Amino acid sequence: MAHERCEQCGTLTPPWDTIHCGSGDGRYELLCSLCFNARIAESTGFTDFESVRLDPIRMADCSGESHQFHFQIRLLGDAVALDAF
Ligand SMILES: [Zn+2]
Repeated sequence: MAHERCEQCGTLTPPWDTIHCGSGDGRYELLCSLCFNARIAESTGFTDFESVRLDPIRMADCSGESHQFHFQIRLLGDAVALDAF
């Protein structure tokens, strides 16, 4: 799976950990979740928010087929979303 480059920090990031973030001038930037969370923390005043990357896990379903799950944490103002897919 091709990685994409965060437009803020330049880190090559897997697509499930990137966000298209709109700016006030109508432009969209591709950000990694760490840069996105830092931007939201700065704009909302939650400057002590600590963003982390969670390692993927692998689990077997009831038929024994293995599945890998990835996680993404997003700061959404005064809430935190944890997506697993
Ligand atoms: Zn970044």
